[in-house]
Amino acid sequence: DQMKMSPCEELYLKQPCNLASMLFQEYTDSMSGESSPYTSWLEINLNAIKNNVRQFKRLTNKAVMAVLKANAYGHGVTGVAQAVAEAGAEWCAVARFEEALSLRKKGITLPILVLGYTQPDCAVEAIKHNISLAVFDPSIVQLYLEKIQQQGGKLKVHVKIDTGMGRLGVFPQDAFEFMTWLYRQPGIEVEGLFTHFARADEPALTTTPRQIEHFKSLVSRLEAEHLRPRWVHACNSAGVFNYPEAYYDMVRPGISLYGLNPSAETQIPSEFLPALSWKTRLVSIKNYPPGYGISYSHIYTTSANERIGAIAIGYADNYRRQNGNIALIGGKRVNVVGRVCMDQSMVQLDALPDARVGDEVVLIGRQGEAYLSADEIASIWQTANYEVVANLADRLPRIYV
Ligand SMILES: *Cc1c(COP(=O)(O)O)cnc(C)c1O
Repeated sequence: DQMKMSPCEELYLKQPCNLASMLFQEYTDSMSGESSPYTSWLEINLNAIKNNVRQFKRLTNKAVMAVLKANAYGHGVTGVAQAVAEAGAEWCAVARFEEALSLRKKGITLPILVLGYTQPDCAVEAIKHNISLAVFDPSIVQLYLEKIQQQGGKLKVHVKIDTGMGRLGVFPQDAFEFMTWLYRQPGIEVEGLFTHFARADEPALTTTPRQIEHFKSLVSRLEAEHLRPRWVHACNSAGVFNYPEAYYDMVRPGISLYGLNPSAETQIPSEFLPALSWKTRLVSIKNYPPGYGISYSHIYTTSANERIGAIAIGYADNYRRQNGNIALIGGKRVNVVGRVCMDQSMVQLDALPDARVGDEVVLIGRQGEAYLSADEIASIWQTANYEVVANLADRLPRIYV
């Protein structure tokens, strides 16, 4: 009997990443802001994500394959998958087979495409769970065929073409032969054909028009030979905004599904809404005398009497351990000072005499009149907004609001 697990422990074993959300499950409907039991958390506005799916559909008039890889770009894949399905997305995509399997185990029934490589050992499971695989190597397809031989059933595949991305995919000149061979395999159903753009967010360049040209001639040739599969797709978010001529049957947005800009040159239209807020709390406030060293290595020292607070965020949350971070407290921008620690960081509070322990701190999102975007954090960290959100640590509970 001592071995018997509490419901919480069971949930923990099933879904370790979401332990915090499980423990506080009863709060999640009503809570946000001051009433939240959390110390450090993410708020995901699923209505914003649903809105963005509808905007993509309205803009393109095509099917939408919602890209949910990397825990839905850090937004929490379970809630996001349900939301995109409710908003009318026809497909979803993940990077790895294990991500697809996990979606099926959570009861997501949308068609799923695995965009990356899948091990031959997974081919049987792929058929069983109706998971479509990207293929770009005949010798690997041969191994899939050997694995599924005894089982029967057809493996659904989308053929990946490298029109100039320089990553996965068969070259356009090899594609026709690969496709005709695939169509002859009784164990294979060729469901789709796709390519990916390397520089669709840089509309001044000729790279993407050249990629589209290569893809277009292949599609035309397949059409002429009656070998065109049902789902032809090419555009990521930036492709949707900059290359309407490449919509084909379906578009494949990731970043802007979450209301984020593909790049500085390719920004989302104003109807798209950001979905994620990153929040924490002030956990301590102290008045320090001049010359007091703050946090590890004393890289910051008070220059006068200074009011310094601690906030509950650190590099273990993937808050970057570097100088120059900014947070919103009391509707104002404040500087993060001193070394970022594993679970805490320090903030300069001289301009906030009314700040109190427990106050909400915003790292991404709105607070009163103030706003801090994922783009701005990315610029401080000298990276892309993609990396900021995709790296948000698992220990941060995702709260759907
Ligand atoms: C990640 C990815 C996408 C989505 O790209 P965004 O720039 O986030 O819209 C689409 N297709 C493939 C193959 C991808 O890997």
